[in-house]
Amino acid sequence: MGSAAPSDALRSLLRGKDPILVLTGAGVSAESGLATFRGPGGLWEGREPTELATPEAFEADPDTVWRFYAWRRTQAAAAKPNPGHVALAALERGRGNVLLATQNVDGLHERAGSVRVLRLHGSLWRLRCTAEGTEHDDMNPDLSPLPPRCRCGALLRPGVVWFGEALPAATLSEAAAAARRAALVIVAGTSSLVYPAASLPVAAREAGAYVVEINPEPTPLSPLVHERLRGTAGEILPRIAEAAGIEPERPA
Ligand code: NAD
Repeated sequence: MGSAAPSDALRSLLRGKDPILVLTGAGVSAESGLATFRGPGGLWEGREPTELATPEAFEADPDTVWRFYAWRRTQAAAAKPNPGHVALAALERGRGNVLLATQNVDGLHERAGSVRVLRLHGSLWRLRCTAEGTEHDDMNPDLSPLPPRCRCGALLRPGVVWFGEALPAATLSEAAAAARRAALVIVAGTSSLVYPAASLPVAAREAGAYVVEINPEPTPLSPLVHERLRGTAGEILPRIAEAAGIEPERPA
């Protein structure tokens, strides 16, 4: 285990028609210049993002948490999909029967052209009223003055799932059903430390799926997968698309 070339077993699943579930995390956007939470460059103004992305941090200091999210929106707006995002969109378009469940909130998969996307952790581009619970899209990176407020006067919060919060139930159950159905699960760029997303590949394996992990580093999931492709998402995902018989494409 630990090569960079897809095995024959993986090639044959990619060339078949059975359902594929792809699970992505922050590592897939690293080559677009967006820092992961746990890797180098993950700190924001010297602070741990995992301590800012919580309901407690927002309650204690909404201004700081909003400055962090305003910065993330600006970074994400300036970033471009990388060859990893592009390869996944091409796999969905060219092969079919591919569902993407992402922990990323940056919108880069959608911008690359992926259509069947389950956003497990919400989106930077959704805002939610803390009083009414209503959500709306807002693509304008400049939300000043911060913190933004709803028309009803209450604070707005980012439409993301914070540490300690439940995932949207319908989205999670759709992802769990896809994990049970999948013949192949490709896990790319996630530390597999954040639950319940990390439990999806394990459930898929128990239900009979072939599980592949793409990550330059080992993770807690590594001992449980059938195949580890060691390398970055931008290197390996285009090889996956190619192994499925799809011509490489250039990033948009
Ligand atoms: P994480 O920060 O915990 O782990 C990132 C993983 O990506 C690590 O295992 C690392 O080895 C790997 N990695 C780094 N560079 C890579 C590359 N070029 N190609 C492939 N893999 C690479 O991130 P996570 O597992 O997604 O979980 C943390 C939480 O942080 C999630 O809830 C997610 O919503 C959020 N997050 C999202 C973004 C984003 O939307 N871009 C960015 C940071 C954090």
